[in-house]
Amino acid sequence: MSKNIQAIRGMNDCLPEQSSQWQFVENAIRQLVGSYGYQEIRTPIVESTDLFKRSIGEVTDIVEKEMYTFDDRNGDSLTLRPEGTASTVRAGIQHGLLYNQQQRLWYMGPMFRHERPQKGRYRQFHQFGVEIYGLNGPDIDAELILLTARLWKLLGMSEHVTLELNSLGSNEARANYKDKLVSYLSEHKDKLDEDSQRRLESNPLRVLDSKNPDVQAIVTDAPKLIDHLDEDSKVHFEQLMERLDNLGIKYRVNPSLVRGLDYYNRTVFEWVTESLGAQGTVCAGGRYDGLVEQLGGKTTPAVGFALGLERLVLMLQELNLIEQINSVDVYVSAIGITAEVFSIKVAETLRDELPSLGVLTHCGGGNFKKQMKRADASGASIALVIGDSEAEQQVVSVKYLRENKEQQTMSVEQLVAFLSNH
Ligand code: ATP
Ligand code: MG
Repeated sequence: MSKNIQAIRGMNDCLPEQSSQWQFVENAIRQLVGSYGYQEIRTPIVESTDLFKRSIGEVTDIVEKEMYTFDDRNGDSLTLRPEGTASTVRAGIQHGLLYNQQQRLWYMGPMFRHERPQKGRYRQFHQFGVEIYGLNGPDIDAELILLTARLWKLLGMSEHVTLELNSLGSNEARANYKDKLVSYLSEHKDKLDEDSQRRLESNPLRVLDSKNPDVQAIVTDAPKLIDHLDEDSKVHFEQLMERLDNLGIKYRVNPSLVRGLDYYNRTVFEWVTESLGAQGTVCAGGRYDGLVEQLGGKTTPAVGFALGLERLVLMLQELNLIEQINSVDVYVSAIGITAEVFSIKVAETLRDELPSLGVLTHCGGGNFKKQMKRADASGASIALVIGDSEAEQQVVSVKYLRENKEQQTMSVEQLVAFLSNH
């Protein structure tokens, strides 16, 4: 016998029970971006491989080992997008959205990285992200952080996440610092793991980001980037912190926070949680003032973040914070041919008059008991019971499924009024 085909490892189906949880989160996100007046951008899932190489950086985890890259039938190298920033910048340049303009954009959708699948880490995962162009002050950095803080509030999880903040300074300041870091790390080279030894040559800042406790111990005493900032970046960072203080947003300055992508400068931040084990970063972002120019556009300041939806949903599940959305309010049952025809008309009238009501009609016949079993399983709070005699009199019986109340009979008009108040 042939084996049944399974989904690709690390790529998940979202089954009905989970999809209502996802909708809960997605609805909160739409409400959030709406209330800040941001606009949605949707870009293709596949892009030229070069786009990601040139933006994320050749010597990063993503480009070195995580991308889904393939040649299409023309021999062009394409890549399933591993993140959303590069595509947003590409689209912004291509369509002239960026030059001398201010844009506050958001996106949501699947991303692809060939990583080892584990809790909170998948090969197809979903991000909600925001990207802002044309604004270079700490005011917009603060707004972005404020927006993320409001999302935690909307989802009821504010007390389970904390904000970590750092500044990477200007490219020049970072280059100067890099020399100091390299000489310090070289003194301790024998205590670094293989990965960090390699990084020391190719991308030394990334050593700061190592999750290996032995490496972290070395990193603790390393010279700090935050002590080597250029004057402008220092002022920018101070003003950001001042704003956050004024807004009552708590944060911890984490001097080892560097982020895994090459394009960041100045402000970087992460929202982290204790509730997810090793995959503790829920949301990450920062400023990337050089990227637009690097990808061929005119110099445009930019700042953004991306948030992993799987980690958010997992967290809400674990903390029992997710609201179960029940899509069915009314179950329409019918026994008899005349009743069936009438019941469909009743259901359609309800859908006309009360579009936000979920009306599920019984299909497939069966006796009263069987139909009520289905009604119960649907999660509806009310069943309409329609037999041929009800159909002849053009009335319906309303049966309460979750309350101990008498069944009532009423006209369709009365039913609409009754359900609109229910
Ligand atoms: P990590 O250090 O956990 O690998 P990252 O630095 O690679 O994260 P980013 O590229 O900044 O992550 O992506 C932003 C967010 O997207 C992460 O904070 C996380 O919530 C989510 N994310 C990233 N990779 C994955 C993945 N493979 N599966 C699920 N969520 C992910
Ligand atoms: Mg990663």
